[in-house]
Amino acid sequence: MEKTFIFHTLGCKLNFAETSSIGKSLIERGFRRANEADKNPPSLCIINTCSVTDTADHKCRQVIKKYRKMYPETIIIVIGCYAQLQPQEIANQLDVDLIIGANEKFNIDAYLSQKRKDKATILHTETKQIENFKPIVSNDDRTRYFLKVQDGCDYYCSYCTIPFARGKSRSATIEETIQIAKIAAQDGAKEIVLTGVNTGDFGRHTGESFIDLLRSLEKIQEIERYRISSIEPNLLTDEIIQFVANSKKFMPHFHIPLQSGSNDVLKIMKRRYNRELFKQKINTIKQLIPHAFIGVDVIVGTRGETDQFFNDSKIFIENLDISQLHVFTYSERANTKALDISPIIPQKEREFRNEILRKISDKKLTEFYDAQYGRKTTVLWEETKKDIMHGFTDNYVRVCATTDPQKFNTIEQIELGNIIETEPQLALGIKNR
Ligand code: SF4
Repeated sequence: MEKTFIFHTLGCKLNFAETSSIGKSLIERGFRRANEADKNPPSLCIINTCSVTDTADHKCRQVIKKYRKMYPETIIIVIGCYAQLQPQEIANQLDVDLIIGANEKFNIDAYLSQKRKDKATILHTETKQIENFKPIVSNDDRTRYFLKVQDGCDYYCSYCTIPFARGKSRSATIEETIQIAKIAAQDGAKEIVLTGVNTGDFGRHTGESFIDLLRSLEKIQEIERYRISSIEPNLLTDEIIQFVANSKKFMPHFHIPLQSGSNDVLKIMKRRYNRELFKQKINTIKQLIPHAFIGVDVIVGTRGETDQFFNDSKIFIENLDISQLHVFTYSERANTKALDISPIIPQKEREFRNEILRKISDKKLTEFYDAQYGRKTTVLWEETKKDIMHGFTDNYVRVCATTDPQKFNTIEQIELGNIIETEPQLALGIKNR
C-alpha cells in the first residue's frame, strides 16, 4: 500500500524549516505527502511541537487530540520542543505512537518499523548529550526560503526553556552552510531568511564567525535577498550593521530581542546587555540605514517586573526609534531560574501590560509605514490565491496590488503609496500604477 504522510507544525520558523527537511527525507524514502483528494487516511501524521509557553503546550495537546480523532489508525508521531521536554507527559496523557526527541527527529523513518504498542514509544536523548547539527533549508511558502544556520543556546536566560529543549549552541562550518544555501539557489530561491535559536552565535565552536558567514553568503550569485531572522543585541556588532548598510543583498531589516527596557528586569532575566547598549545599536542602525525596519521582542509580566520596572521599561521603549514590537506575555516554565523570583505578576496585570505595549507597537508601525510614502524601492511578490497579491519591500514594508500571476516570485521596482489595508496587518499600496 502507498505510504503517505501529513505534517502539522507549531511554533517558530526553525520548526517550519525542520518540518520541511523531514518531509523531503520521507519523500526520498518513498513516502508521498497526502492531499485532500486522498481516499485513505495518511499512514503517518507528524506533529512538530512548540513549548515556548504553557499556552503552546496546551495547543500541542489539542492538535494531537484532533488528529487522533480524525485518524484513529494513523501512526501519530510527536517531535519538537514539547516532545523533547515532556515525553513522559505526552505518553501518559495522549494517544500517540511515537515521541521522538531532538537528537533523533531527522531519522524518523528509521523508527517506523517499531511495533505499535498500547503506550507510546519514546526515543529520546538527554538534552545535554545532543551534539547533532545539520544546516537545512526549507521553502514552504515558495518565495522565501529559511536557512537554519544554528541551533541551541548556551545563554540560559532565567525565564527561558529553550536551552533545555534544544541543547547547546552549535552550527556547521561556513562551507557546509554555503552548500545548503546553494541548493536553495538552484531551486530558484530569490530570498533566504537566516534562522537559528541564537543566530549570532554561529561559529563560536568552530572558530568561525557570523559576519564571515554573511560575507560568504553574499557571494552566491543567484540569491538576491537575505534577511537575518533575529539576533541578540550583544551579538549584533557594529561590523555586522556596517556590513548590512553596505550590502546590496542583506536587507535593511533587523529583528532584535530587547525583552525589557528596564535594566533591573534585564538583570533578573540574566540577559547579556543593558538598555544603553541596546539603544546604541538602534542609533547606529538608524544613522547608517535611516529607512531600516527594526522589529523588537519584549516580554511583559516576567517575575520580578514590578509596576515601577514596567513603567520604566515602557518609557524607554516609547522613546526608541523602532518600527514594531512583538509583545509576549510571560508564562512560568518548569526548571527555569525565574521560578525562584518574586513578586509574581497576576495574570490580569500581565495581559494589561501586553495591551499597553501592543498599542505602542501599533502606533510605531503606523508611523513607520507613513514615513515610507513615496519611497522608490523593490518588492518581492508572493504567490496568492486571492485577487490581491502581497509582497515585502527591502525594508519589510508589506505591499499589496491587484494579483498578476506573472509577477509571483519576481522582484519589481515600485513607488510606495498610501496605507490601504489595516487587516490583518498594515500594507501599503503602489503609487501611479
Ligand atoms: S538567548 Fe535567552 S531567550 Fe534566547 S534562546 Fe537563549 S536562553 Fe532563550
